[in-house]
Amino acid sequence: MGEFEGQKITVMGLGRFGGGAGVARWLAAHGAQVLLTDLEPEEKLEPSLAPLRPLIDNGAISLRLGGHNIADFTTANLIVANPAVPTPWDNRFLRAAAAAGIPITTEMRLLVDRLPQRNNVVGITGSAGKSTTSAMTHHILHHTGRAAVFGGNIGGSLLGLLPSSPHHLRQGDEPALTPDTFVVLELSNAMLYWLGEASPDCRWSPHVGVVTNISPNHIDWHGSFEHYAASKQRLVAHMSQGDTAVLGPSVAAWPLPNGVRRIEATPTTRVGGLSIPGEHNERNAAMAVEACLALDPTLSRHEAEQAVRSFPGLPHRLQLVGHVNGVRFYNDSKSTTPESCLLAVAAFGADRNRIHLIAGGYDKKSDLSPMARLGPSLAGLYTIGVTGPSIAAAANGSATECNTLDAAMAAIHSRTRPGDIVLLSPGCASWDQFENYEARGSRFADLALHAGVRP
Ligand code: ADP
Repeated sequence: MGEFEGQKITVMGLGRFGGGAGVARWLAAHGAQVLLTDLEPEEKLEPSLAPLRPLIDNGAISLRLGGHNIADFTTANLIVANPAVPTPWDNRFLRAAAAAGIPITTEMRLLVDRLPQRNNVVGITGSAGKSTTSAMTHHILHHTGRAAVFGGNIGGSLLGLLPSSPHHLRQGDEPALTPDTFVVLELSNAMLYWLGEASPDCRWSPHVGVVTNISPNHIDWHGSFEHYAASKQRLVAHMSQGDTAVLGPSVAAWPLPNGVRRIEATPTTRVGGLSIPGEHNERNAAMAVEACLALDPTLSRHEAEQAVRSFPGLPHRLQLVGHVNGVRFYNDSKSTTPESCLLAVAAFGADRNRIHLIAGGYDKKSDLSPMARLGPSLAGLYTIGVTGPSIAAAANGSATECNTLDAAMAAIHSRTRPGDIVLLSPGCASWDQFENYEARGSRFADLALHAGVRP
């Protein structure tokens, strides 16, 4: 008998990164009758639906797409909400479920309630640097020969790796979690809201928690900075004697439960000599090292620091995607705020006058003038997208307005010399010209490779 045998479970929100699909497969494998519902129509969800087709065809999973139906929320045994559902406390379907007394959970809650060994779990959050610090933490553990998995906000679902999950949920030869496997969880503010305020009965915090920093972000989701900060604090709220919190400079003063070890990362706490640029990454690396040392006392600081130096970087975040004729191409397509663009340029230090920067994109109404002011200090500023003309206008003649990424790369191509850096760090979202930031970054990487084929 599966844990959810015969239960009707509604999974709300399939999502593009596989969290919804993962939980739906896991529930179906444990005997549930799953209803998967999403506001998007079937055509748009096809990539996420494809791996579920056999289960849809055999009736284990049924679909309600292009909208929700209130009865699916009021007659189920359990609702699994996608954490990204905006302002869930105001959502009429979730409110109807709550009013009908139907329990509501999330994929992350299902996971943390079942992890075999809390002492091997590190949870990482923050306004910026979550993915990088989590990936660095995983890299250190893996690189020093430890069994470690990485999940949460970065995509996919770890539910299939639980020891109680059937084999077919694991890809290839991926082993199930054992009590010795380290688990690195990147936790978003929304995931923490669901583990905290939305679940008063949840008493879970990881054994080691890292908060990289906090700055006003996602205020549209939370309604206020206080609510946002309170959600993040849930990471450490239920820690106990022997647990460790690694706190970045802007959160160093956060209150911690009695007996919890506090490791403060000051602005100068850094690990140098990394393969990826940027002082912010040296700080992320230092926090990842502290997290690993707290997780496994048999690891030496020297070993951990050596390991993090070989971390190759995450896709679309200051990622070196080409080194052609002495010119380096960095893809920082994930930079969707002016602050990230400034940080990316600063990461190259004194080499900034060798940077050809491509910036601009969808208009989120941010103040882009700090990006425009970079123009005169760079080898070139090339603007693209809806915000391109206004950035170029504010750059006082120091920018080339190109409209498209392809045109910008063509313009740059004729101007680079060995030792130059071509940097895509748009400081804006991509939706005006691309499906998402990944598509924008991939196009850049393709064009960078073609830069090697000189006519
Ligand atoms: P997240 O997962 O929190 O969005 P990422 O690791 O993907 O963070 O980094 C996204 C961007 O945030 C980076 O490209 C960089 O501009 C910025 N960033 C990363 N780490 C830090 C940090 N420690 N402090 C400030 N900004 C950072």
